[in-house]
Amino acid sequence: MTASESTSRLPDRVDLAVVGGGVCGSVCAAEAARRGARVAVLEKEAEVAEEGSGRSFGSLRVQGRHPAETPLAVDAIELWREAARTIGVDFELVQGGNLYVAEHEAEVDQLRQQLVEARAAGLADVRLLGPEEVREIVPCLTRRVAAGLYSARDAHCDPRKATRAYAALAEKHGAQIAVGTRAVDLLVADGKIAGVRTERGDVRARAVVVAAGVWTPRLVRRLGIRMRGKEGRRAPHTLNGTAFAIGRTIAAILENFQEPSGEVAIPEVLHPHLPTGMTMIPWKGAGGPGAG
Ligand SMILES: Cc1cc2nc3c(=O)[nH]c(=O)nc-3n(C[C@H](O)[C@H](O)[C@H](O)COP(=O)(O)OP(=O)(O)OC[C@H]3O[C@@H](n4cnc5c(N)ncnc54)[C@H](O)[C@@H]3O)c2cc1C
Repeated sequence: MTASESTSRLPDRVDLAVVGGGVCGSVCAAEAARRGARVAVLEKEAEVAEEGSGRSFGSLRVQGRHPAETPLAVDAIELWREAARTIGVDFELVQGGNLYVAEHEAEVDQLRQQLVEARAAGLADVRLLGPEEVREIVPCLTRRVAAGLYSARDAHCDPRKATRAYAALAEKHGAQIAVGTRAVDLLVADGKIAGVRTERGDVRARAVVVAAGVWTPRLVRRLGIRMRGKEGRRAPHTLNGTAFAIGRTIAAILENFQEPSGEVAIPEVLHPHLPTGMTMIPWKGAGGPGAG
Protein backbone atom coordinates (compact mmCIF):
# COMPACT_ATOMS: atom_id res chain seq x y z
CA MET A 1 0.00 0.00 0.00
CA THR A 2 1.59 3.30 -1.03
CA ALA A 3 -0.91 5.31 0.96
CA SER A 4 -0.89 5.71 4.72
CA GLU A 5 -2.69 2.89 6.48
CA SER A 6 -6.38 3.51 7.00
CA THR A 7 -5.92 2.43 10.59
CA SER A 8 -3.50 5.26 11.37
CA ARG A 9 -4.94 8.13 13.37
CA LEU A 10 -6.52 10.93 11.40
CA PRO A 11 -4.92 14.31 12.01
CA ASP A 12 -7.11 16.65 14.13
CA ARG A 13 -6.07 19.72 12.21
CA VAL A 14 -4.34 20.42 8.87
CA ASP A 15 -3.85 23.37 6.56
CA LEU A 16 -5.47 21.60 3.64
CA ALA A 17 -7.87 18.66 3.57
CA VAL A 18 -8.29 17.08 0.15
CA VAL A 19 -11.34 14.89 -0.37
CA GLY A 20 -10.52 12.29 -3.01
CA GLY A 21 -7.36 10.48 -4.03
CA GLY A 22 -7.83 10.66 -7.79
CA VAL A 23 -5.42 12.46 -10.07
CA CYS A 24 -6.79 15.90 -9.15
CA GLY A 25 -6.62 15.33 -5.40
CA SER A 26 -3.22 13.61 -5.49
CA VAL A 27 -1.53 16.25 -7.65
CA CYS A 28 -3.04 19.04 -5.57
CA ALA A 29 -1.91 17.37 -2.33
CA ALA A 30 1.63 16.80 -3.65
CA GLU A 31 2.04 20.43 -4.67
CA ALA A 32 0.55 21.88 -1.47
CA ALA A 33 2.70 19.58 0.68
CA ARG A 34 5.79 20.46 -1.38
CA ARG A 35 5.12 24.10 -0.55
CA GLY A 36 5.08 23.28 3.15
CA ALA A 37 1.36 22.91 3.91
CA ARG A 38 0.14 20.22 6.32
CA VAL A 39 -2.06 18.13 4.08
CA ALA A 40 -4.46 15.22 4.55
CA VAL A 41 -6.01 13.34 1.63
CA LEU A 42 -9.26 11.62 2.61
CA GLU A 43 -10.01 8.73 0.28
CA LYS A 44 -13.00 6.41 0.78
CA GLU A 45 -11.53 3.45 -1.12
CA ALA A 46 -8.78 1.13 0.13
CA GLU A 47 -6.32 2.64 -2.39
CA VAL A 48 -6.03 5.86 -4.32
CA ALA A 49 -6.91 5.87 -8.05
CA GLU A 50 -9.74 3.38 -7.76
CA GLU A 51 -12.32 5.47 -9.61
CA GLY A 52 -12.01 7.65 -12.75
CA SER A 53 -8.26 8.08 -12.49
CA GLY A 54 -7.62 4.36 -12.40
CA ARG A 55 -10.02 3.55 -15.22
CA SER A 56 -9.25 6.19 -17.79
CA PHE A 57 -7.43 5.60 -21.07
CA GLY A 58 -4.62 7.86 -19.93
CA SER A 59 -4.62 9.84 -23.14
CA LEU A 60 -2.81 13.17 -22.78
CA ARG A 61 -4.27 14.80 -25.83
CA VAL A 62 -3.53 18.26 -27.14
CA GLN A 63 -5.26 18.16 -30.52
CA GLY A 64 -9.04 18.01 -30.94
CA ARG A 65 -9.78 20.22 -27.95
CA HIS A 66 -11.81 23.35 -27.46
CA PRO A 67 -9.48 26.31 -28.19
CA ALA A 68 -9.86 27.52 -24.60
CA GLU A 69 -8.38 24.24 -23.36
CA THR A 70 -5.43 24.12 -25.75
CA PRO A 71 -2.94 26.27 -23.76
CA LEU A 72 -3.69 24.22 -20.65
CA ALA A 73 -3.24 20.96 -22.57
CA VAL A 74 0.10 22.17 -24.00
CA ASP A 75 1.36 23.12 -20.53
CA ALA A 76 0.03 19.85 -19.10
CA ILE A 77 2.04 17.73 -21.55
CA GLU A 78 5.20 19.56 -20.46
CA LEU A 79 4.35 19.03 -16.79
CA TRP A 80 3.78 15.31 -17.38
CA ARG A 81 7.15 15.06 -19.15
CA GLU A 82 8.84 16.81 -16.27
CA ALA A 83 7.07 14.54 -13.78
CA ALA A 84 8.25 11.46 -15.69
CA ARG A 85 11.83 12.73 -15.40
CA THR A 86 11.73 13.85 -11.77
CA ILE A 87 9.13 11.91 -9.80
CA GLY A 88 11.13 8.67 -9.69
CA VAL A 89 8.26 6.31 -10.67
CA ASP A 90 7.74 4.87 -14.14
CA PHE A 91 4.14 5.62 -15.05
CA GLU A 92 4.64 4.58 -18.68
CA LEU A 93 4.58 8.01 -20.24
CA VAL A 94 4.99 7.68 -24.00
CA GLN A 95 4.94 10.68 -26.28
CA GLY A 96 3.85 8.77 -29.35
CA GLY A 97 1.23 10.99 -30.90
CA ASN A 98 -2.50 11.01 -31.40
CA LEU A 99 -4.13 10.01 -34.65
CA TYR A 100 -7.66 10.64 -35.89
CA VAL A 101 -8.48 8.32 -38.78
CA ALA A 102 -11.04 9.15 -41.48
CA GLU A 103 -12.48 6.32 -43.55
CA HIS A 104 -14.54 8.41 -45.97
CA GLU A 105 -14.24 11.74 -47.78
CA ALA A 106 -16.94 13.36 -45.66
CA GLU A 107 -14.85 12.68 -42.57
CA VAL A 108 -11.77 14.16 -44.27
CA ASP A 109 -13.59 17.50 -44.42
CA GLN A 110 -14.07 17.23 -40.68
CA LEU A 111 -10.33 16.59 -40.23
CA ARG A 112 -9.52 19.59 -42.46
CA GLN A 113 -11.71 21.75 -40.24
CA GLN A 114 -9.96 20.36 -37.16
CA LEU A 115 -6.61 21.19 -38.79
CA VAL A 116 -7.68 24.81 -39.30
CA GLU A 117 -8.76 24.98 -35.65
CA ALA A 118 -5.51 23.38 -34.47
CA ARG A 119 -3.40 25.85 -36.43
CA ALA A 120 -5.51 28.76 -35.13
CA ALA A 121 -4.83 27.49 -31.62
CA GLY A 122 -1.08 27.57 -32.30
CA LEU A 123 -0.55 23.82 -32.80
CA ALA A 124 1.88 24.07 -35.72
CA ASP A 125 2.85 20.39 -35.56
CA VAL A 126 -0.62 18.97 -36.30
CA ARG A 127 -0.55 17.42 -39.81
CA LEU A 128 -3.09 16.02 -42.25
CA LEU A 129 -1.77 12.66 -43.48
CA GLY A 130 -2.57 10.62 -46.56
CA PRO A 131 -3.52 6.91 -46.34
CA GLU A 132 0.05 5.65 -46.74
CA GLU A 133 1.37 7.90 -43.98
CA VAL A 134 -1.47 6.75 -41.69
CA ARG A 135 -0.54 3.09 -42.36
CA GLU A 136 3.09 3.83 -41.57
CA ILE A 137 1.94 4.84 -38.09
CA VAL A 138 -0.64 2.04 -37.66
CA PRO A 139 0.38 -0.71 -40.10
CA CYS A 140 -2.36 -3.06 -38.87
CA LEU A 141 -5.29 -0.89 -40.01
CA THR A 142 -7.46 -3.10 -42.18
CA ARG A 143 -10.34 -0.77 -43.03
CA ARG A 144 -10.33 1.81 -45.80
CA VAL A 145 -8.29 4.88 -44.85
CA ALA A 146 -8.96 8.23 -46.52
CA ALA A 147 -6.77 10.43 -44.32
CA GLY A 148 -5.53 11.01 -40.80
CA LEU A 149 -4.91 13.95 -38.55
CA TYR A 150 -1.78 13.47 -36.50
CA SER A 151 -0.30 15.35 -33.58
CA ALA A 152 3.13 14.00 -32.68
CA ARG A 153 3.35 15.80 -29.36
CA ASP A 154 0.35 14.01 -27.81
CA ALA A 155 1.09 11.35 -25.27
CA HIS A 156 -0.39 8.79 -22.95
CA CYS A 157 0.52 7.16 -19.67
CA ASP A 158 -0.79 4.60 -17.25
CA PRO A 159 -3.30 6.78 -15.35
CA ARG A 160 -3.40 4.59 -12.26
CA LYS A 161 0.38 4.49 -11.92
CA ALA A 162 0.58 8.25 -12.56
CA THR A 163 -2.00 9.01 -9.87
CA ARG A 164 -0.31 6.71 -7.38
CA ALA A 165 3.05 8.30 -8.17
CA TYR A 166 1.63 11.70 -7.21
CA ALA A 167 0.04 10.30 -4.04
CA ALA A 168 3.41 8.82 -3.09
CA LEU A 169 5.06 12.17 -3.83
CA ALA A 170 2.53 13.90 -1.57
CA GLU A 171 3.41 11.44 1.20
CA LYS A 172 7.10 12.05 0.60
CA HIS A 173 6.45 15.74 1.20
CA GLY A 174 4.69 14.91 4.47
CA ALA A 175 1.04 14.61 3.45
CA GLN A 176 -1.09 11.95 5.12
CA ILE A 177 -3.06 9.82 2.67
CA ALA A 178 -5.93 8.42 4.71
CA VAL A 179 -7.49 5.63 2.66
CA GLY A 180 -10.67 3.91 3.80
CA THR A 181 -11.85 7.32 4.98
CA ARG A 182 -15.16 8.48 3.54
CA ALA A 183 -16.02 12.16 3.85
CA VAL A 184 -19.66 12.54 4.80
CA ASP A 185 -19.95 16.31 5.23
CA LEU A 186 -18.06 19.58 5.05
CA LEU A 187 -17.62 21.51 8.28
CA VAL A 188 -18.55 25.19 8.29
CA ALA A 189 -17.94 27.68 11.10
CA ASP A 190 -18.78 31.39 11.04
CA GLY A 191 -19.71 31.12 7.38
CA LYS A 192 -16.29 29.70 6.44
CA ILE A 193 -15.11 26.25 5.56
CA ALA A 194 -13.65 24.66 8.66
CA GLY A 195 -12.87 21.06 7.72
CA VAL A 196 -14.32 17.71 6.79
CA ARG A 197 -16.47 15.24 8.69
CA THR A 198 -15.50 11.67 7.85
CA GLU A 199 -16.80 8.31 8.97
CA ARG A 200 -13.64 8.09 11.09
CA GLY A 201 -13.94 11.50 12.73
CA ASP A 202 -13.53 15.20 11.97
CA VAL A 203 -10.49 16.78 10.34
CA ARG A 204 -10.29 20.54 10.92
CA ALA A 205 -8.74 22.41 8.00
CA ARG A 206 -8.11 25.99 6.94
CA ALA A 207 -8.89 25.02 3.35
CA VAL A 208 -10.66 22.10 1.72
CA VAL A 209 -10.35 20.83 -1.84
CA VAL A 210 -13.23 18.63 -2.89
CA ALA A 211 -11.78 16.45 -5.65
CA ALA A 212 -14.29 13.64 -5.27
CA GLY A 213 -14.87 13.11 -8.98
CA VAL A 214 -18.45 12.21 -9.82
CA TRP A 215 -19.39 12.36 -6.13
CA THR A 216 -18.35 16.02 -5.78
CA PRO A 217 -21.85 17.51 -6.37
CA ARG A 218 -23.20 15.48 -3.47
CA LEU A 219 -20.62 16.87 -1.01
CA VAL A 220 -20.71 20.52 -2.06
CA ARG A 221 -24.52 20.66 -2.13
CA ARG A 222 -24.23 21.27 1.61
CA LEU A 223 -22.62 24.65 0.81
CA GLY A 224 -25.43 25.61 -1.53
CA ILE A 225 -23.30 24.83 -4.59
CA ARG A 226 -25.26 23.10 -7.32
CA MET A 227 -23.13 21.16 -9.79
CA ARG A 228 -24.40 19.08 -12.64
CA GLY A 229 -22.95 15.62 -12.87
CA LYS A 230 -23.86 12.02 -13.14
CA GLU A 231 -22.92 9.79 -10.26
CA GLY A 232 -21.72 6.30 -11.05
CA ARG A 233 -18.80 4.44 -12.54
CA ARG A 234 -17.74 3.66 -16.05
CA ALA A 235 -14.88 1.44 -17.03
CA PRO A 236 -13.36 0.03 -20.18
CA HIS A 237 -13.08 -3.68 -20.84
CA THR A 238 -10.00 -5.23 -22.38
CA LEU A 239 -9.64 -7.66 -25.25
CA ASN A 240 -7.31 -10.52 -24.55
CA GLY A 241 -4.51 -12.20 -26.42
CA THR A 242 -3.97 -9.77 -29.27
CA ALA A 243 -0.50 -9.42 -30.72
CA PHE A 244 1.15 -6.13 -30.00
CA ALA A 245 -0.14 -4.28 -33.02
CA ILE A 246 -1.28 -0.75 -32.33
CA GLY A 247 1.17 0.48 -29.75
CA ARG A 248 -0.22 2.31 -26.77
CA THR A 249 0.92 5.54 -28.32
CA ILE A 250 -1.91 5.77 -30.79
CA ALA A 251 -5.31 6.92 -29.73
CA ALA A 252 -7.33 6.53 -32.89
CA ILE A 253 -10.84 7.80 -33.44
CA LEU A 254 -12.13 4.65 -31.73
CA GLU A 255 -10.43 5.80 -28.54
CA ASN A 256 -8.67 2.52 -27.95
CA PHE A 257 -5.19 1.74 -26.83
CA GLN A 258 -3.04 -1.33 -26.45
CA GLU A 259 -1.30 -2.26 -23.25
CA PRO A 260 2.29 -3.47 -23.36
CA SER A 261 0.82 -6.93 -22.53
CA GLY A 262 -1.06 -6.92 -25.84
CA GLU A 263 -4.51 -6.30 -24.31
CA VAL A 264 -6.62 -3.66 -25.99
CA ALA A 265 -8.92 -1.45 -23.93
CA ILE A 266 -12.26 -0.78 -25.56
CA PRO A 267 -14.83 1.73 -24.34
CA GLU A 268 -18.13 0.24 -23.21
CA VAL A 269 -20.07 2.06 -25.90
CA LEU A 270 -18.33 0.00 -28.59
CA HIS A 271 -18.82 -3.40 -27.00
CA PRO A 272 -22.03 -4.27 -28.91
CA HIS A 273 -20.24 -3.61 -32.21
CA LEU A 274 -17.30 -5.93 -31.65
CA PRO A 275 -16.97 -9.04 -33.80
CA THR A 276 -18.07 -12.25 -32.10
CA GLY A 277 -15.43 -14.59 -30.74
CA MET A 278 -13.42 -11.91 -28.99
CA THR A 279 -12.75 -12.47 -25.31
CA MET A 280 -13.79 -9.59 -23.15
CA ILE A 281 -12.13 -9.28 -19.78
CA PRO A 282 -13.82 -7.00 -17.25
CA TRP A 283 -11.70 -4.15 -16.05
CA LYS A 284 -9.11 -5.35 -13.54
CA GLY A 285 -9.62 -2.86 -10.73
CA ALA A 286 -11.41 -3.31 -7.45
CA GLY A 287 -15.16 -3.27 -7.66
CA GLY A 288 -15.19 -3.90 -11.40
CA PRO A 289 -17.19 -1.98 -13.94
CA GLY A 290 -20.47 -0.60 -12.79
CA ALA A 291 -19.66 -1.24 -9.15
CA GLY A 292 -20.45 1.38 -6.86
C1 LIG B 1 -13.44 4.96 -19.37
C2 LIG B 1 -12.79 6.32 -19.13
C3 LIG B 1 -11.80 6.76 -20.01
C4 LIG B 1 -11.20 8.03 -19.83
N1 LIG B 1 -10.17 8.40 -20.65
C5 LIG B 1 -9.52 9.57 -20.43
C6 LIG B 1 -8.36 9.91 -21.19
O1 LIG B 1 -7.94 9.16 -22.07
N2 LIG B 1 -7.73 11.08 -20.91
C7 LIG B 1 -8.18 11.91 -19.91
O2 LIG B 1 -7.55 12.96 -19.70
N3 LIG B 1 -9.27 11.61 -19.17
C8 LIG B 1 -9.93 10.46 -19.39
N4 LIG B 1 -11.01 10.13 -18.62
C9 LIG B 1 -11.43 11.09 -17.60
C10 LIG B 1 -10.51 11.01 -16.37
O3 LIG B 1 -10.45 9.68 -15.92
C11 LIG B 1 -11.08 11.91 -15.27
O4 LIG B 1 -11.28 13.20 -15.76
C12 LIG B 1 -10.12 12.01 -14.09
O5 LIG B 1 -9.65 10.74 -13.68
C13 LIG B 1 -10.87 12.67 -12.93
O6 LIG B 1 -9.99 12.70 -11.84
P1 LIG B 1 -10.52 13.16 -10.44
O7 LIG B 1 -9.38 13.16 -9.49
O8 LIG B 1 -11.28 14.45 -10.60
O9 LIG B 1 -11.64 12.09 -10.03
P2 LIG B 1 -11.48 10.55 -9.63
O10 LIG B 1 -10.31 9.90 -10.23
O11 LIG B 1 -12.82 9.93 -9.85
O12 LIG B 1 -11.17 10.64 -8.09
C14 LIG B 1 -12.15 10.96 -7.13
C15 LIG B 1 -11.77 10.23 -5.87
O13 LIG B 1 -12.59 10.69 -4.81
C16 LIG B 1 -12.93 9.59 -4.00
N5 LIG B 1 -14.17 9.96 -3.29
C17 LIG B 1 -15.38 10.21 -3.82
N6 LIG B 1 -16.26 10.55 -2.86
C18 LIG B 1 -15.56 10.51 -1.71
C19 LIG B 1 -15.94 10.75 -0.34
N7 LIG B 1 -17.17 11.10 0.01
N8 LIG B 1 -14.98 10.63 0.60
C20 LIG B 1 -13.70 10.27 0.28
N9 LIG B 1 -13.32 10.01 -0.99
C21 LIG B 1 -14.24 10.14 -1.97
C22 LIG B 1 -13.12 8.45 -5.00
O14 LIG B 1 -13.04 7.19 -4.38
C23 LIG B 1 -11.98 8.73 -5.97
O15 LIG B 1 -10.79 8.06 -5.60
C24 LIG B 1 -11.63 8.88 -18.76
C25 LIG B 1 -12.61 8.43 -17.86
C26 LIG B 1 -13.18 7.15 -18.04
C27 LIG B 1 -14.22 6.69 -17.05
